[in-house]
Amino acid sequence: MYQIILVRYGEISLKGRNRSQFEDLLIKNISHALKGLDYQKISKAYGRIYIESDHNWEAIVEALKRVFGIVSVSPALKTELNMDAIKEAAFELMEGRPNTTFKVKARRPNKHFPIDSMTVNQEVGGYLLRSFPGLSVDVHQPETELNIEIRNEGAYLYHTFISGLGGLPVGCGGKGLLLLSGGIDSPVAGYLSLKRGVTVEGLHFHSYPFTSERSKQKVIDLARILTGYTGQSQMLLWIAYFTEIQKALQKSRYPDLNITLMRRMMLRIGTTLAQREGALALITGDSLGQVASQTMESIYAINAVTTMPVLRPLIGLDKQEIIDLAREIGTYQTSILPYEDCCTVFIPKNPATKPHLEQVLTAEAQYDIDALVEEAIARTKCITVSDTIKIFS
Ligand code: ATP
Ligand code: MG
Repeated sequence: MYQIILVRYGEISLKGRNRSQFEDLLIKNISHALKGLDYQKISKAYGRIYIESDHNWEAIVEALKRVFGIVSVSPALKTELNMDAIKEAAFELMEGRPNTTFKVKARRPNKHFPIDSMTVNQEVGGYLLRSFPGLSVDVHQPETELNIEIRNEGAYLYHTFISGLGGLPVGCGGKGLLLLSGGIDSPVAGYLSLKRGVTVEGLHFHSYPFTSERSKQKVIDLARILTGYTGQSQMLLWIAYFTEIQKALQKSRYPDLNITLMRRMMLRIGTTLAQREGALALITGDSLGQVASQTMESIYAINAVTTMPVLRPLIGLDKQEIIDLAREIGTYQTSILPYEDCCTVFIPKNPATKPHLEQVLTAEAQYDIDALVEEAIARTKCITVSDTIKIFS
């Protein structure tokens, strides 16, 4: 029944000069998200984006619900700027709900329209009451709201505001390299970075044959789910060769520092790769105090290998909050598949919870760190992950 979908965006409109760039990016991401769906056109006018489609609106709305930057959408009828046309559309919208309490709520950003909002409310409300005897007005808690927006380009009538994800359009926030394990946390960290407009590439440390092909496939599947939120049809995933480093670390004279050393290697490799790829930050799924490697002392000792910003979007979240988000975004079921990751295979019996940087440096002195990093990077491969899997929350 609807002909057009109104798309509202929030923070973009605050961005002054960059506004039209942001709008164009959002439109580009929307058109990616709508790929394969039937619609006539996407256009923008006065702080709104419109998608014209005379059928299929449910599928379009579902796709829009996964595009960052959108605050809400409303499937609507569009009419010409005269009262007869507006009443006719109001009639059509209320036809399916002839026995509810209702309220007409008009807004008139277009001040050239000669009738003010109050009068529109009264005229349209009166007309509907006469047309449908089962209707009654309730201005405080109506079961149905009939919104009428009178704008320069036409009048829009709709019932609902459907929430979008908010955030900023992906692509407006620089690039970050996400350290993506097969666990619950790092995909959520990736999602939250995408939410703030960051273009994300993934980096996974694979320790074949200690970790299996299936554990790698799980990470690819997680990247694919994240791709559904990128506004692009694909995402790059780097698979770093971590086997030799793991083997070397097994010979450490300080086994309780192994996790710290392993994480430091990850950040070193990540930093080199990020610089090569033009990424300006690393992103991890750390949450303060969750495990031994995520105490403040550990984070300090691990972070010391890089001057690149390390974003930790989950830092203040409890595990349950992270799990809830993982469920919501559709990564949880994949994350809990049982395949081992490199940390579970190599975890020491008593990992240090408060490693001292000096001890860590002593422990690293037995290794040729640069050579290990170089080898891992030389054997790192890139996979292009596409979003062909559809996500159902
Ligand atoms: P996750 O659920 O994301 O695996 P976790 O609670 O298991 O997190 P750790 O295993 O301590 O925590 O890992 C902390 C962070 O280090 C991860 O969130 C991720 O960003 C990164 N990381 C760990 N293992 C890997 C890996 N094999 N490849 C890439 N990044 C990793
Ligand atoms: Mg993990």
